[in-house]
Amino acid sequence: MTERIARYLQEERPESPCLVVDLEVIAENYRRLHEALPLAAIYYAVKANPAAPVLEVLRDLGSRFDAASIYEIEHCLRLGIGPERLSFGNTIKKSCDIATAYRHGIRMFAFDSGPELDKLAEAAPGSRVFCRFFMDGAGADWPLSRKFGCDLDMAADLLTRARDQGLQPHGVSFHVGSQQTDPGQWDLALGKTQMLFTTLKERGIELRMVDLGGGFPAHYLTDVPDELGYGSAIMAAVTKHFGNRIPELVIEPGRGIAGDAGVIQSEVVLISRKSYADSVRWVYLDIGKFGGLPETMGEAIKYRIVTPRDGGPTGPVILAGPTCDEVDVLYQQTRYELPLDLQIGDKVEFMATGAYTSTYSSVGFNGFPPLREHYI
Ligand SMILES: *Cc1c(COP(=O)(O)O)cnc(C)c1O
Repeated sequence: MTERIARYLQEERPESPCLVVDLEVIAENYRRLHEALPLAAIYYAVKANPAAPVLEVLRDLGSRFDAASIYEIEHCLRLGIGPERLSFGNTIKKSCDIATAYRHGIRMFAFDSGPELDKLAEAAPGSRVFCRFFMDGAGADWPLSRKFGCDLDMAADLLTRARDQGLQPHGVSFHVGSQQTDPGQWDLALGKTQMLFTTLKERGIELRMVDLGGGFPAHYLTDVPDELGYGSAIMAAVTKHFGNRIPELVIEPGRGIAGDAGVIQSEVVLISRKSYADSVRWVYLDIGKFGGLPETMGEAIKYRIVTPRDGGPTGPVILAGPTCDEVDVLYQQTRYELPLDLQIGDKVEFMATGAYTSTYSSVGFNGFPPLREHYI
C-alpha cells in the first residue's frame, strides 16, 4: 500500500468497504509500461477502471483508450478525449452502437467474425479494422480464450474480405489472457501474427498494426516479472518474427495500469467456527463476490491481504462475503492464514484492487450499495 493511501485511510476514515486509488501510481504504471515498450502505443483498457479521475490522468499523459462499449466511448468523449484516440475493441457490438461510434468519429474497430465484419462494412465504412485471433490463455490467471478471436485461416480470409468490403484491413490483435504470468506467451502469438502478415501480403494486402493486447499483471500473491521483463520478452519476440520490419505496435493494458494503484478496505463482520473441534475460522467481511471481488471466482485472482494484527501467530481461515448467498465465499481452497487474534470490527485490506473491482460491484444485491470509491 502506498503511503498516500495509508494516510488517506487513517485521516479520512472512509466508510467501509471502499476502494482507494492512488492516481500517482496510475501515472507511474503508465510511464513504466511506456518505458518498457517505447515502440508501442498504449490504449488503456477502460473497462479495468473507468473512473473519470483515472481516465483524466491517462488522458493528460497522452494515452489512447480501448473501449468495450458505446457507453465507454461516450464517457471518454465527455472527458475531452478525441475520437482519434479511441478504439472500439470489443468484437461483439450492436450495429446501432457501431454507427453511433462512427458518427462520433471513431475509425478503429475490432472484429473476429464474418457477421461482425458485415456490420462494420455497413455502419463504419472505410474504417480501420483489425481481426482478433484466438489464444488459449495458457499461463494466465484470468484467461480470455474461446469467447474471443477466430483461427488463423479464418482471420486471413476475413481480413481479405474486409478490403473487398471497403474497409481498411489494418492489422491483427490477440490477448494472451489477463494476469499473464508468463511473458513467453507473446512469442507464440507473434509467430502466428507473422504468418498472418505473410499470408495477407501474398494476397496483396499490407497489414500495418499488431495489437499485443493486455495481460500485463498486477501484484497479487504470486510474484511476477516486472514491466521490463515483459517489455524485453515482447520486443525479443517481435524482432525474432519481424526482423527489422517492425509493424506499428499497440498494447491494451488494463490491469497492468490500474491494478496496483488501488486498495480495498473492508471490515470484519463476524468470525466463527462451524463446530467446537474446528480449527478453521470463518471470517466474514463486509465485501465479497458481489461487492466488487468477483475475480475470486474459482479463486482465480488471489489478492494479498493485510490486517492491523499482522506479525503475530496465524491460523487458517475461510474468507467469505456478507450476503445471504452460498456462492459469496472468497477463498476456501486457497490456504489463507490470518492472525489468531483478529477481531470483529478490524479493518482488512485487499492489495492491488484498482482493476476489475468497482464496476463489478452489484447495484444493490441484498441491499448493499455499490463499492464506494475514492481517488486521491
Ligand atoms: C480486457 C481487455 C484488455 C485488458 O486486459 P488486461 O489483462 O486487464 O490488461 C485489453 N484488450 C481487450 C480487447 C480486452 O478485452
